[in-house]
Amino acid sequence: MSFELPKLTYAYDALEPHIDARTMEIHHSKHHAGYTNNLNGAIEGSDLEGKTIENILTNLDLENKAVRNNGGGFYNHRLFWSVMSPNGGGKPSGELAEAINSTFGSFEAFKDAFKKAAATQFGSGWAWLCVLKGGKVEVCATANQDNPLMPSIGCGGTPILGVDVWEHAYYLNYQNRRPDYLEAFFSVINWEEVAALYAQNK
Ligand code: MN
Repeated sequence: MSFELPKLTYAYDALEPHIDARTMEIHHSKHHAGYTNNLNGAIEGSDLEGKTIENILTNLDLENKAVRNNGGGFYNHRLFWSVMSPNGGGKPSGELAEAINSTFGSFEAFKDAFKKAAATQFGSGWAWLCVLKGGKVEVCATANQDNPLMPSIGCGGTPILGVDVWEHAYYLNYQNRRPDYLEAFFSVINWEEVAALYAQNK
């Protein structure tokens, strides 16, 4: 059994004008496909073969750079596509909204914290909204293709929202204007999916 590149549930141009079709096509069909193929190559014939990606990352040996980089890349992008939608934007409601308000005070304060974590991640990486067991949420960022499931990464819990701040995620349309890309990302966030992930992992 090997990992497969997940199909998008929307067209490459569906997130325009916030995220352009060319960026989406290259990002999914080249970058994510590359991580997926390289992950399969890295685990082939090893005792990791046949395990879930969550199991592989939770028990990861950080010195195993091929699995760290490509397993992270496979998982991170799969989450990223799922938390965006052409019908996205707005704000969460229900228990996720309550958890965000409990930690940050308001949705706007959460948005500021998330955008700051993403904007100040030096070089390539990701910013996350994570849920801890018990339901508390927190924001953090990781470098490269690391993520909060990995042990001792300085960022805990289960990620329920992630934004890719590698330049390949925004450079064609936004060049060096990462903050503009982050503002646009909030116009496509699929809060229904984020809320479902919160409920599953709290
Ligand atoms: Mn990417």
